[in-house]
Amino acid sequence: MRAFSFVLLLVAALPARAEDLAAHAARLVRGSIVVDTHEDVPWELREKWADLAVAGATKHVDLPRLRKGGVGAVFFAVFTPGTLADKGQAAHVAFELSDLVDRVVAAHPRDFAAATSVAEIRAAHKSGRIAILKGIEGGHAIEDSLGLLRDFYRLGVRYMTLTHTNTNDWADSLGNFADPSYDPAKARKHGGLTAFGKEVVAEMNRLGMAVDVSHVSPDTLRDVLAVSKAPPFASHSSCRALTDNPRNLTDEQIVAIAKAGGVVMLNASSSFLDADGLAAFRATPPRPFATTLSRYVDHIEHAMKLAPGAVGIGTDFDGIDDPPRDFPDVSYMPRLAEELLRRGHSDAEVRGVLGENFLAYLSRVESKSSPDTKPSAR
Ligand SMILES: [Zn+2]
Repeated sequence: MRAFSFVLLLVAALPARAEDLAAHAARLVRGSIVVDTHEDVPWELREKWADLAVAGATKHVDLPRLRKGGVGAVFFAVFTPGTLADKGQAAHVAFELSDLVDRVVAAHPRDFAAATSVAEIRAAHKSGRIAILKGIEGGHAIEDSLGLLRDFYRLGVRYMTLTHTNTNDWADSLGNFADPSYDPAKARKHGGLTAFGKEVVAEMNRLGMAVDVSHVSPDTLRDVLAVSKAPPFASHSSCRALTDNPRNLTDEQIVAIAKAGGVVMLNASSSFLDADGLAAFRATPPRPFATTLSRYVDHIEHAMKLAPGAVGIGTDFDGIDDPPRDFPDVSYMPRLAEELLRRGHSDAEVRGVLGENFLAYLSRVESKSSPDTKPSAR
């Protein structure tokens, strides 16, 4: 009889607790600035224009889903495929995508606000708008010109991923990880950053543009850690210890980035999160596969253990085809918060992962910038 009552109690208590957790997560998301540092919306809109306010505008992102997910700030990727470098069109396309982002924001002034700093992100959030920021993906976009780098900064670009899957003239990439016969040696050309690559990093530091090491080779990451005055970050990578995708960071790299003051923003692609996802992604033709939100949170928790206070979200939504089946788009951010709470993380820890860790990081980048504008030949 007593055992029976106990079971009844347990059955009665479970749904209530689950509901409490969902409500708690929703409240936490409402009171937080949720930041996603990598979404490939511009490239999606370039391929097929749509009004971002309309549901289903892109695969994983639109205004109704951003609102439902409680998203407070997003970096839209100004992505330039490496093939454009050979055609001399990389900067051209990057300027067009930057303009595209400006037009999306201008079309919805009540919902979106262009932001270029932590202060502007917080102000946008206060005014009930979603802060939209720009990050260049692929350093070949600057066409080896510090002048163009400064132009992009003036247009609001606040981070640059030093390489995409292609090695450029000044930084080694880790190469095309999608290739089933992946060989990192194919992308090794400079052994890290060249002398000019170090100048690029120094100018990014001076401007206050964050140095993104997702996609770069281990040698390039080592060089960045050695020369960058401001801490670098990874805008969309996950944990190599859990999934042996070369795009993921090793434990040593995660610790080194955090020790320098950087942050690691976790990618939500199943090919980054799950060995089966990586196998499906590399199959010819690729097989559909979707892992679970729980697996995504495994990666987040692994990084949190190595780098407390230095972990966040960089989903890569719209740039991936295989998000977790129960975390399929930006509207599911509260579910992520709920899973972290369910695993016993505190409100402060969850708020950190949702956005505060990144905002603290961006402040550190801003504090390393310098107004020095002494003229030089380039
Ligand atoms: Zn990427």
